[in-house]
Formats: sequence, structure tokens, C-alpha cells
Amino acid sequence: MSQSDLIFIGPPGAGKGTQAKRLCEKLGVPQVSTGDMLREARAAESELGKRVAEVMERGGLVSDEIVIGLVEERLARADAAKGFVLDGFPRTIPQAEALDKLLRRLGRSVKHVVLLEVPDALIVERITGRRTGETTGRIYHLKYDPPPFPDRGEGGERLLQRSDDVEETVVNRLATYAAQTAPLVAYYADKGLLRRVDGVGSLDEVSARLFAAVGV
Ligand code: AMP
Repeated sequence: MSQSDLIFIGPPGAGKGTQAKRLCEKLGVPQVSTGDMLREARAAESELGKRVAEVMERGGLVSDEIVIGLVEERLARADAAKGFVLDGFPRTIPQAEALDKLLRRLGRSVKHVVLLEVPDALIVERITGRRTGETTGRIYHLKYDPPPFPDRGEGGERLLQRSDDVEETVVNRLATYAAQTAPLVAYYADKGLLRRVDGVGSLDEVSARLFAAVGV
């Protein structure tokens, strides 16, 4: 049985990616982000990338079949043997059931499901201020974690804004979360795995709460 199989859920813009990364560094396990994998497929203009572009642009969900396949492949890689942090997966009940099945088959199980909670009122500001370093993938926020320049990160790398991080799409992403992902809260609470973490505050404050919630 692995010691550190964790899941992050929470609305878009709650800070899942940033906090999952910090937790992974502390635990020495890989961060498995379906959103990052799908964005990479789009950047590479692969068949998969082309298939998912439209639904991502409008803030909908890619099919369960596609993301389950990605996660299955990713968790089979050697670096996931000692643990992983899933960020942005599962996002639907069928995905959660598929994950349960996969982990059972691998003889492992989820230890904690972190629910990063941020009120809707803060989300639009968080998301529209988000910028990502082109080469390092480092995530900044223009107000809460400002880069050295509005359009350049550390080392001078160019900063990009995700195409789905615009206000019109954020509204759809929040609706998608409420309809399809929020039911996972009860699903994991029933299993005794849910750890609620208040995602409001500085990055370090949130990390401290997170580490305490998962006992690291
Ligand atoms: P994220 O980076 O987690 O916000 O994901 C960006 C977008 O990728 C989402 O708005 C979805 O369109 C798609 N996506 C990421 N993860 C999943 C998933 N587990 N199921 C379905 N679609 C996903």
C-alpha cells in the first residue's frame, strides 16, 4: 500500500495547482494534473489536443473516457509508485468510481481528499489575475503573488494567460463545478476521506492549513 495517494478537489481558481505543487515538493511525489496534461496535448496540437480544445475553451468537461485513460497511463509510470497528488481529477462521480476501481486493481487506496474552499465572490478575481511562466510553468497572480513585471516572470520568461481564464468562461467553469464536481464532496465525505481546507489567505497560510489537514 502506498503512503501518499492524495486528491485535490475544489472550484476553479481555489489554488489547487499551486498548493498541490507545494505538497508534492514536501512529499516527494508527482503532481498529476489532468488540466496540465490536456493543455500540453493542445500545445502539441496532437489528435487528442484538437478533440478537447473546444470543450475546454467554453469551460465544459472533457469526456470521462479521455481523462480516465490519461490518468491510468500516468499512474502506471514508475515515479507514481510511491504516491501521487491528483489535481483536477476526479471531476465527476463516474471518474471517482473509475479511480476507485483502478486503485483497487493496483492494490492502493486514497488517503486524503482535500477540498480547497474559496467563496465564489473571490474566484473571478483569482482566476483573471492568474499568469503562468511560459518555460517554467510557475504560476503567479498579478495581485497576490506578483511577478517582477506584469508580462515577465523571474529570469525574464514570458507570462501567459490561460485562454479559459477569462471572465465569460469562468462563469461556465463555476457552473460546471457546481453541477458535476460538487457531488464528489458527499461521495468522499461518506468514505471518511474528506479534509476541508480554507483556501482564503496568503499562499503560506493556506499551505500551513493544508499540511496540518493531511498530517505532514
Ligand atoms: P484545470 O486546469 O484543472 O482547471 O482544467 C482545465 C480544463 O481542462 C477544465 O475546464 C476541463 O475542460 C478540462 N479538464 C481538466 N481535468 C478534467 C477532468 N478530470 N475531467 C474533465 N475535464 C477536465
